[in-house]
Amino acid sequence: MFQKFPAIIGYLFFVCFLSPLTFQGVYAMEDDTYPALNTNPWGHSPITVYIDTINVPEHYSPTYNEQVEVAMAYWEKGGNGRLAYNPEFSPVDSGSEADIYIIWVENLEKDAGVENGVAGFARPHEVNGKYVRVDIVMEVGNYEGYAWKQYGNTNMRELAKHELGHALGLGHSKDRRDIMYPTYDQKDNIDPLLVERTRPFIYVAVAASIILVSFSGINWLRYRRKRRSLEGNLLEGKDGRP
Ligand SMILES: [Zn+2]
Repeated sequence: MFQKFPAIIGYLFFVCFLSPLTFQGVYAMEDDTYPALNTNPWGHSPITVYIDTINVPEHYSPTYNEQVEVAMAYWEKGGNGRLAYNPEFSPVDSGSEADIYIIWVENLEKDAGVENGVAGFARPHEVNGKYVRVDIVMEVGNYEGYAWKQYGNTNMRELAKHELGHALGLGHSKDRRDIMYPTYDQKDNIDPLLVERTRPFIYVAVAASIILVSFSGINWLRYRRKRRSLEGNLLEGKDGRP
């Protein structure tokens, strides 16, 4: 019993003293891999946001605006858990009074002189340690080889989350699963504009098939009725003859 004491004391020593140090070391290492650009960039709340849905490029989809709203809600609910404060966004109608200004371009490489492979960027204007304005520019698609590829809604949502993360003061993560990891992947290939354009054709196709089915149904009923009456005549004829 008493022989076991040193082991127990050693264990307690580890639990009470060494393990918190070990965990602190792990957390410190994680922090090193995730530098914040600014831990509290906005001195006020709510943060006003202007989404430019008027000056839009050719392949802009109206559904992109909704993706930005989802991305704002994501950060308001805590986002990736890396913010030291709770942001609150408020949409405004005028770009001049906005803290964050969001605009789309057709292609970043072509329209903003950004290197290839970048889908969006956030440019903070900092005065005395506080952001006075952040411009977020996102492209609506990119060239893959020679083929133009429109970004899907999931892509746009992830892109908006990432850029808003920068606007809230976060830098890049080294964790691939983190929204602030700098690699941008194509999450889906559904072209929202293509869906918009083909929707009327889908309606027409569905309506046409309903009409066709109902017509053929009526024809079939008519045919049945005709056949019945023929048989009736035949039977009547047979029965009617003496
Ligand atoms: Zn980034």
